Amino acid sequence: RAAAVIIDAALAAIQDTLDRSVDELGRLDAIAGDGDHGIGMQRGARAGRAAAAEALAAGAGAGTLLIKAADAWADRAGGTSGALWGVALRALGERLGDADPAFSAAVVEGVAAARDGVINYGKAEVGDKTMVDALVPFADTLAAALGEGADLVEAWRRAADSATKAAAATSDLLPRKGRARPHAEKSLGTPDPGAHSFALIVVAVGDVLD
Ligand code: ADP
Ligand code: MG
Ligand code: MG
Repeated sequence: RAAAVIIDAALAAIQDTLDRSVDELGRLDAIAGDGDHGIGMQRGARAGRAAAAEALAAGAGAGTLLIKAADAWADRAGGTSGALWGVALRALGERLGDADPAFSAAVVEGVAAARDGVINYGKAEVGDKTMVDALVPFADTLAAALGEGADLVEAWRRAADSATKAAAATSDLLPRKGRARPHAEKSLGTPDPGAHSFALIVVAVGDVLD
């Protein structure tokens, strides 16, 4: 399949999983944050998916789809996570480009660029109880698995698995960034909403690649 068609299907899968998880993500964010993570992610994903579908219909390539989706997502989602997802999708789109290059290699580079962009923008480190706690092991595992000779589907599956475990493990952490920080101790025992939504998203995308 052409890369643009895969990206369009991935964004549709992201929208579907966030539609199903909107209440759960809102509840998680209400524990120590302001409760808007579900609705914000849902708005962002809808707008991103619509922008990508429009670009696909106009004949655009994968990179353009992602960049259009990034801008629409950041515009419509609001909140910290909206801006960070805009940064991540744009970084991925800039690495993928429109030329249908070696897809797996471009995806690994793009995910690494998304990780660097999110860290650079939000200044969170691993252990601060943010989406970075799921994104970093995801990017590391993806690169390692492809380096060991796994194909993209298998590498993505392993990476999504480590993101899921890492997101769950944020339950034991105290938030050191974002709106949850002033109420840090309330969040003990529940995972970071942004790490959890990150894991849901990469699992959903893995099903599309398969
Ligand atoms: P807001 O906090 O503005 O209401 P959301 O509720 O949509 O935005 O997103 C909250 C999530 O954003 C947190 O659970 C965390 O994962 C992520 N987050 C917050 N601040 C940062 C940061 N500085 N770097 C990375 N991720 C962050
Ligand atoms: Mg919030
Ligand atoms: Mg908010």
